[in-house]
Amino acid sequence: MKKACVIGAGFGGLSLAIRLQTSGIETTLVEARDKVGGRAYVWERDGFTFDAGPTVITDPDALRELWTLSSQDMADDVDLMPVMPFYRLNWTDGVTFDYSNDEVALRREIARVAPRDAAGYDEFVRYAAGVYQEGYVKLGHEAFLDFSSMVKAAPALARYQAWRSVYSMVSHYVKDEHLRQALSFHTLLVGGNPMTTSAIYALIHKLEKDGGVWWARGGTNKLAQGMARLFERLGGTLRLGEKVVQIHTLGDQVTEVETESGWKQRFDAIASNGDIMHTYRELLSGNQRGQDMAHKLKKKRFSPSLFVVHFGLEGTWPGIPHHTILFGPRYKGLLDDIFEHGVLPRDFSIYLHHPTVTDPSMAPAGKSTFYALVPVANMGKLPIDWAEVGPILEKRILAEVGRRLIPDIDDRIVTSFRYAPPDFESDLGAYNGNGFSLEPLLTQSAYFRGHNRDDKLKNFYLVGAGCHPGAGIPGVVGSAKATAKLMLEGLK
Ligand SMILES: Cc1cc2nc3c(=O)[nH]c(=O)nc-3n(C[C@H](O)[C@H](O)[C@H](O)COP(=O)(O)OP(=O)(O)OC[C@H]3O[C@@H](n4cnc5c(N)ncnc54)[C@H](O)[C@@H]3O)c2cc1C
Repeated sequence: MKKACVIGAGFGGLSLAIRLQTSGIETTLVEARDKVGGRAYVWERDGFTFDAGPTVITDPDALRELWTLSSQDMADDVDLMPVMPFYRLNWTDGVTFDYSNDEVALRREIARVAPRDAAGYDEFVRYAAGVYQEGYVKLGHEAFLDFSSMVKAAPALARYQAWRSVYSMVSHYVKDEHLRQALSFHTLLVGGNPMTTSAIYALIHKLEKDGGVWWARGGTNKLAQGMARLFERLGGTLRLGEKVVQIHTLGDQVTEVETESGWKQRFDAIASNGDIMHTYRELLSGNQRGQDMAHKLKKKRFSPSLFVVHFGLEGTWPGIPHHTILFGPRYKGLLDDIFEHGVLPRDFSIYLHHPTVTDPSMAPAGKSTFYALVPVANMGKLPIDWAEVGPILEKRILAEVGRRLIPDIDDRIVTSFRYAPPDFESDLGAYNGNGFSLEPLLTQSAYFRGHNRDDKLKNFYLVGAGCHPGAGIPGVVGSAKATAKLMLEGLK
């Protein structure tokens, strides 16, 4: 049997390991932390369950496929629950908008908030369906290894005006500023600025419309745990708490993986799900290729980081939906500050996660679990002392949630903690504390992103947010499909 190693058990690494093991490759999945999940890590505190990262699960069929490949049923390992509405959007002028794929309810919301945009919205949906077909269905699972693959995709990119931003394209179809924000903010879920991320990302609208928005009972980490169980059931080997320190090479081949504990093993092929800069700069430091790539990557734009306040409250809030966006007073200006200027603005937009409204098992009886997330510039752009700034920002975010939703929040807090850019760096090896790897610009997508198979090291591969198609659960699960295809060809 051929042997493969996957470094990192994020959703990308887990999906790849499952695909390889299912195809008869003896696969070892090596994870630095004590749990699988990567950005979807989990903490248990005072009876509350706090998911670290992703909370919006889309395209459940792409996940289900990992089980059906071996004729198994995902429902045996993971219980997916529908979330409705998908999001409640709330602006400082008091306008709210419930966004979902319930057509009747959505039309009612558009008629209420932006009555003159009903026809424009229909046109936008047609546009989103087109880019979804071209960008996700046709190209989302295909590796872009050479420039000719980009040339082949060019006519479709031109047809859909991929050089324009999501916000610019949405603005072409709808005129109301609330609706423009409601239809463009999604790129933030993959680390992109709606003002500069390619309009191709309007495909997320179609992805959510068709596949729905889901929640894994017990938290998103339960999905990762379910994937790990499937992988081990298939006969794969999972090594937790093993940080890889070096990928050894011989000529143009990778040969062996070495961890901090001294464990070493030879493999026929190796894939990294770790941060792309960490992978080349540290793990391949012994090879010129690692140094060359690290040098190139330094010139690229990495996505912003995130500041997250996790808190458990006394009481329950049936009126606060699972996902709320509390927009701040500025949209473009705020995005510029985060993505371009690298300053910490006084205002912010908050994504508020409230899982207990869907799944009370996330907190003790009569209590509620929340997290409040704000995007912040990464540490390369904003090199501040987060130990000093963190407590102040946490206070301001909780005060804003209190002002807009939970007036007596301070008296109700049972437990709380924060997660800041340096934590992304120390826990995940994320370069400059990035939340989503490389920024998803057109000039950093497809062929211009990390390649699913390395150009020089013939049996070395990437999987996850740093390679095509990019960040987000559907993205990294798709990257695993593209990478698995290449690895299986290479291992023949
Ligand atoms: C707060 C937050 C909220 C998000 N919300 C959503 C959402 O709602 N929906 C959505 O679809 N996406 C969301 N995302 C994005 C999504 O979570 C990520 O894009 C995706 O999970 C990244 O998966 P990945 O496979 O690239 O690997 P990661 O999750 O980055 O995992 C990489 C793994 O590799 C391990 N590793 C790294 N280096 C080594 C080493 N040297 N040795 C061994 N192991 C190593 C790490 O420990 C980690 O476990 C969110 C992200 C964040 C941070």
